Amino acid sequence: MQKTKHYTIPIFIPDMACIGNCIFCDQKNITSHSHPPTKEDIQETIKTHLQSIPNANAHIEVGFFGGSFTGLSITKQKEYLQEVQSYIEDRKVHSIRLSTRPDMIDDDILRFLIQYHVKTVELGAQTFDKDVLQKSGRGHSIEDTYTAAEKIKAAGIILGLQMMIGLPADTLEKALHTANTIVELGATNTRIYPLLVIKNTELEQMYKSGEYKPLSLDASVDYLSKIIPVFEKANITILRVGLHQSEGLNSGDALIAGPYHPSIKELAISKIWKEQFQPLLQSDKYSDNIIIEVHPKEINSAIGYHASNKKMLLTKYKQIKFLPNPKITHRDYHVNNS
Ligand code: SF4
Repeated sequence: MQKTKHYTIPIFIPDMACIGNCIFCDQKNITSHSHPPTKEDIQETIKTHLQSIPNANAHIEVGFFGGSFTGLSITKQKEYLQEVQSYIEDRKVHSIRLSTRPDMIDDDILRFLIQYHVKTVELGAQTFDKDVLQKSGRGHSIEDTYTAAEKIKAAGIILGLQMMIGLPADTLEKALHTANTIVELGATNTRIYPLLVIKNTELEQMYKSGEYKPLSLDASVDYLSKIIPVFEKANITILRVGLHQSEGLNSGDALIAGPYHPSIKELAISKIWKEQFQPLLQSDKYSDNIIIEVHPKEINSAIGYHASNKKMLLTKYKQIKFLPNPKITHRDYHVNNS
């Protein structure tokens, strides 16, 4: 049987619903969309995406991202959700997902969302450390996140919890605590965002005055290489690592500082493999020429970003061949002399 493929048609809503004052946020710069979408925009976006998505064996959802959806007036929420309903009735779209703030969830809103076929709600948790949350200007408490997460699950809605790394006062230990709490709360999926200093934010001022120092790219990759396995072990789907590439970020116009890299997830997985291969650097069990077998899906990551792991192993071995072996489990490897 063919595996179901998941597609999300993204609709970005700038910070029109936001009551927050998060030090890092300027949604208008991040999304490069300065106006909220009109009904026509939504129709256009859905139609355009549907043309390129094969309907057979596909689970297609519309995702409202960017701002705090449930902070919009009920009229506005209805207006947006209504635009998707005919596609759901025609089975061209199967569900809706949206992201919001933890303090903008209650039982009434959840009942309302269910009526409109919302199946997944992602909360911007960002951190489960009280001090880090307070310094980030989020304007809600950790208890708000716990309560919203429990309510979402109790309503039968799939829970997503997003986290950030490198917030003021954050440490690797605190970031791991956040990841473990996301697991304990029963999230089905997550997104991990290394904090970037974006133009026209409070964080930009803090960075310029020396009050805030962003994580380096190396440090971010190190954090991620330890956080990603926490989610993988718990079978939590990592939907995204790092912000989407956008014109402002790639050209550097919106980005003031911070660990932005379009392939930051690949760098982190490459680092996980680097750690896995450390015993091979110490071992005298093998000849100069070795064959390393890994699961086919892992072969590129095992070789490493820009072949970094292969190059590292070539400092000890003369020849290394990587071969795919579907019998080998995720992140495991077998070594033979060639
Ligand atoms: S990150 Fe904060 S300021 Fe930005 S849209 Fe979300 S809640 Fe509002």
